[in-house]
Amino acid sequence: MNDYDLLVSKLKKISVLGSVNGILGWDHQVYMPKGSSELRAEQQAMIAGMTHEMFVADDMGKLLKKLSKASLSEDQRLVVEETLEDWEKARCVPTELVHKYEEVTSKAFIVWEKARAKNDFKSFAPVLQEIINLNVKIAELQYPGMEPYEAMLKGYDRDLPLKKIASLLAEVRAGIKPVIAKAKKQDTKALFAPVSEAVQHDFNLKIARDMGLNQDLSRLDVSTHPFTTGTMLDTRITTRFDHGWWGAISATIHESGHALYELGLKKEHFGNPLGSAVSLSVHESQSRIWENHVGKGLAFWKHQFPLLKKAYAPHLKDLTLEKFHKAINNVEPSLIRVEADELTYPMHVILRFELEKDMISGKVKVNEIPAVWNQKMKDMIGVDVPDNARGCLQDVHWSGGSIGYFPTYVVGSMLSAQLYNSAKRKIPNLEQQFEQGNTAGLLQWLRTNIHQHGRRYKKQELVKKATGKEIGSDDYIKYLTEKFTRLA
Ligand SMILES: [Zn+2]
Repeated sequence: MNDYDLLVSKLKKISVLGSVNGILGWDHQVYMPKGSSELRAEQQAMIAGMTHEMFVADDMGKLLKKLSKASLSEDQRLVVEETLEDWEKARCVPTELVHKYEEVTSKAFIVWEKARAKNDFKSFAPVLQEIINLNVKIAELQYPGMEPYEAMLKGYDRDLPLKKIASLLAEVRAGIKPVIAKAKKQDTKALFAPVSEAVQHDFNLKIARDMGLNQDLSRLDVSTHPFTTGTMLDTRITTRFDHGWWGAISATIHESGHALYELGLKKEHFGNPLGSAVSLSVHESQSRIWENHVGKGLAFWKHQFPLLKKAYAPHLKDLTLEKFHKAINNVEPSLIRVEADELTYPMHVILRFELEKDMISGKVKVNEIPAVWNQKMKDMIGVDVPDNARGCLQDVHWSGGSIGYFPTYVVGSMLSAQLYNSAKRKIPNLEQQFEQGNTAGLLQWLRTNIHQHGRRYKKQELVKKATGKEIGSDDYIKYLTEKFTRLA
């Protein structure tokens, strides 16, 4: 075996083991009995430790450094360069710290679930402090001299600096404020008609398949929080049926967008950077383009709505396409991020970004989080937070150690608007295709411009190639302003 093939086989082994952990995580949220969570935490921590050790091994480093001086094809050179960068970053973190991190975050998840159920922030605060400390420690090891929050953001969006993210989010905040003030609340009662779960499951699966989810490589299940996990060889999505039948469809479309990205990565690059998503915000752009630009648009539902009415009969007999379209685009300032409408959603995220920044710099202490959260909710969204369960305890992210993750949601939305405009320019009859029940043109465009590249290009380069410009907030603000002015 030559050196390059040896590298590929090592990376593949690591990814195969990583995918086992993915399935364990999926099972944790979908099927596992509640009482097994401690054992599962140990199982997952053990596997994460194993993959980390395999990756940071001296042999791996020697091989990568040798290969970086060898004569290689363009693709091979990219794989070696990107992997070496990952290796150097991972090497900064000692294995004991990785174990510790896995252990703390697995436990924190259980503590957080209980704290949220009992509306008891105080019981979560110490473990959150522990998570913050560990994150800061890792940030300082990986990027010495850099502001820790900036380093944490890099874990999710490597090539978008804190300053850039802050200015993009500030533009969105200012741009949508007047639109929110004028937006209209719509009648959404019909979206909560009691359609049976079995009927819903069939229709949700049909939508996922219509979007292009491969029947042999993906499946749809139910979990408390919808998510996607897997690779191009096996992708799992979930939805939930306890937030109304529209909530289920919307989650299914969102997660299907994520799954299509995974399934669109090249099989022959499984386990290496050319077969991996470029960044979380690009991943999120793929879910948002389907969820918002396709799944909340009139064109898509011109074809799907009669089928929906038939499937959910007799529950939707008084619902017209026009009323349905207005209902799914309801704007209503609310408490919970994952239930927020498309227009106020970014405010929820910007709140978290601002809070995290101050939390990590020490400007906001852990015990001050609830008060700061509640004040920001009032200022930005105009709602009073009745309890921490519906306030700062609502998201799973911090308990999982994910600090710096939130901005990817809005950067992803921004990017989805930019990509959608670009796709429409390239495919002038795109929305007529949707009216005919055909979304394959959009999928093909995304496959060609985003999915197939994996990490071949850095994010800004990828965006520029696909849309003609670097990532900006203009298309997004313009899209939200026009859409919600029209609906007001
Ligand atoms: Zn998502």
